Amino acid sequence: MNAPLIDPFARAITYLRVSVTDRCDFRCAYCMTEHMTFLPKAELLSLEELDRLCSTFIRLGVRKLRITGGEPLVRKDIMTFFRAMARHVSSGALEELTVTTNGSQLRKYAAELAACGVRRINVSLDTLDEAKFAEITRWGRLNQVLDGIRAAKEAGLRVKINAVALKGFNEDELFALTDWCAAENHDLTFIEVMPMGELETATRLDQYWSLKDLRARLESRFTLIDLTERSGGPARYVRLAETGQKIGFITPLTHNFCESCNRVRVTCTGELFQCLGQEEKADLRAPLRASSEDAALEQAIRAAIARKPKGHDFDYSRQKVAGQMTRHMSHTGG
Ligand code: SAM
Ligand code: SF4
Repeated sequence: MNAPLIDPFARAITYLRVSVTDRCDFRCAYCMTEHMTFLPKAELLSLEELDRLCSTFIRLGVRKLRITGGEPLVRKDIMTFFRAMARHVSSGALEELTVTTNGSQLRKYAAELAACGVRRINVSLDTLDEAKFAEITRWGRLNQVLDGIRAAKEAGLRVKINAVALKGFNEDELFALTDWCAAENHDLTFIEVMPMGELETATRLDQYWSLKDLRARLESRFTLIDLTERSGGPARYVRLAETGQKIGFITPLTHNFCESCNRVRVTCTGELFQCLGQEEKADLRAPLRASSEDAALEQAIRAAIARKPKGHDFDYSRQKVAGQMTRHMSHTGG
């Protein structure tokens, strides 16, 4: 009954990313349009349904759970859900409970997250310049996020900064971001912009700054030591010999990482996406709502994993965007 989740390419699915809301208090230019339409509340999984869903995945062998969104920490009563997941951390069933956040609510919630067994969090931060931060997030305030990051540190949480590499936007801050992370003892990961959702202001090629180029620029100042460590995802890591800090590169467009993929994603409406870069999905909300028993849900999960595609088709080569997805990152959960 509790056989682990293995897909057709012999990959064990041990990592679940769950988006708990499509809403956000920011409107990052590469992620959302300024006037997004959000889902009606009835469409969303309730906190109890999210608990059942995650607990079923954990029973089927998921060892790492990442809560994301939209902005997960703006969902009403979200700490009720984290407190529910804490039982899986205490029992040892879950190795890691973690969250990806824009940091705006961390002053309020960091201590409680730590109390729920969260040890590490990812905070998205693309610039350290107040005006540029306001420009890229449209609605965000840099000081609030920096204060949130301080609160996370005070609560004993390890912080990894995620920065999207954006051509003409934060190219000039490569060393400023790296130095700041070294001084604050945060790990730092750069992300290539992905073709998720239509935008009103810019095309993807306008925003795309290849991490190959970013890496070469880092090499002009630092000695990069490649680390063999892999997360089962698209990140590759180096250590900077001069500072000892760890830098990650998430390059879905320039590397193929799919062969070691160990993850699936569930949206806030209970759609399971087997692959971030494919339209293939399965509805888990219907079996969740059809019965209070978990058998139908488990069967739907297994059937979906049996259809997990081999990989994505993103490609920016030849100056066109291939593999463009119609859904936004805030929908699937980054
Ligand atoms: N709101 C939270 C945050 O910003 O960390 C969690 C959700 S957000 C969708 C997750 C991550 O996806 C963020 O690091 C964000 O920068 C990244 N992201 C959003 N849209 C993206 C895109 N089109 N390409 C690459 N990364 C993107
Ligand atoms: Fe919100 Fe995160 Fe998307 Fe920015 S990247 S708009 S913070 S969901």
